[in-house]
Amino acid sequence: MKMMKCKSCGIYTMKSRCPSCDGDLNVVYPPKYSIDDKYGKYRRKLKEEALLNLT
Ligand SMILES: [Zn+2]
Repeated sequence: MKMMKCKSCGIYTMKSRCPSCDGDLNVVYPPKYSIDDKYGKYRRKLKEEALLNLT
């Protein structure tokens, strides 16, 4: 799910138009994404270590 932020009033919404001023929105990514990415790196590191242990 995408989070949107109004270009003019800066409020966050899930709608495709700003509920306050009906203006254009920018897509913003919630912090959840960076956490997922951090865990992704952690998983890749574990996988690399597992592969090293196999050789
Ligand atoms: Zn707005």
